[in-house]
Amino acid sequence: MAIVILRNDDLIPRWKAALQKAAPDIPVYGMGEEVPPGEIAMAAVWKHPPGSLERFPNLRGIHCLGAGVDFILEDPQIPESLPVMRVVDPFLASDMAEYVLAQILASLKGLHRYKTEQGRGIWAPKPYQRMGDLTVGIMGLGTLGQAVSELLLKAGLACVGWTRQSSPEVAFPTFRGPAERDTFLGRSDVLVCLLPMTPKTRGILDYALMQHLPEGALLINVARGPLLVDADLIRALDEGLLSGACLDVFHTEPLPASHPFWKHPLVHMTPHVASVSDPESVAPQIAENYRRLLSGQPLKNRVSRELGY
Ligand code: NDP
Repeated sequence: MAIVILRNDDLIPRWKAALQKAAPDIPVYGMGEEVPPGEIAMAAVWKHPPGSLERFPNLRGIHCLGAGVDFILEDPQIPESLPVMRVVDPFLASDMAEYVLAQILASLKGLHRYKTEQGRGIWAPKPYQRMGDLTVGIMGLGTLGQAVSELLLKAGLACVGWTRQSSPEVAFPTFRGPAERDTFLGRSDVLVCLLPMTPKTRGILDYALMQHLPEGALLINVARGPLLVDADLIRALDEGLLSGACLDVFHTEPLPASHPFWKHPLVHMTPHVASVSDPESVAPQIAENYRRLLSGQPLKNRVSRELGY
């Protein structure tokens, strides 16, 4: 039996090399190679082409090559009985934490705005904020949200967190579920979204939510594009409800050239790079799950189909 790697970019050779290094005894095929369909027991995927998994009659499991599995669970051709596993990796977590801290600092010190003004030849000093002045609200205190909170606390920021039902052991106030959401939002000068995309979280970042944030709050969405209602964000920015938005993820990626975010002065964008799976670091956990799959042992980092994450 073997693993097949299915991705829509040019990183298949790097993933294949990393898997072969981590487990030289496991046969690995990349999309595009001549793959013996009946031999494939596990597909390792990132935004696989629609229908590409149907070819493998003996598939026993799907391993996502990243942390977010929404694109797998939304594929109607994947039988619900197939187990889905996701990546939990220390670099994925620390890279995300560094990205969020960088965006918060850039905003506090006005760096986004000065870069724009530099291009227009404007010299205009403005007041700045200090880290100790702010509380960061983290939506989603899972693997990534907790890693973000640890770095932010070390840097001197205060945090609050929001989860669906868990109460993680963290040294700051946490809130749970819809009933406590607005209290959490009211304390979030910066709102960092690190929720998975599920039927419950799609569109959660809407105008009604933004109205509960302190006036002039900063929004950082590093989760998934469809969690945000784009038109509501533009309205909130234009009305001064929010002071800015740092967006790493979008409904359509790459973001279409006609989208108003491109030219909005208060929207600061990056091309889905906040945190990217490192093949060399992640390959051993995929190989381990492959062995567990074949030997019938419990899988690591298995996703709940019912919850969607
Ligand atoms: P986890 O599954 O570890 O954590 C998810 C957290 O969200 C949990 O705390 C969970 O609550 C909470 N949550 C889920 N649903 C709800 C809800 N309806 N209401 C309130 N809280 C909810 O995920 P990760 O931390 O590993 O990853 C989070 C997301 O980050 C991924 O799904 C992915 O989309 C995105 N991501 C983005 C990257 C980028 O480069 N931009 C890179 C990697 C990931 P509870 O604790 O109660 O279960």
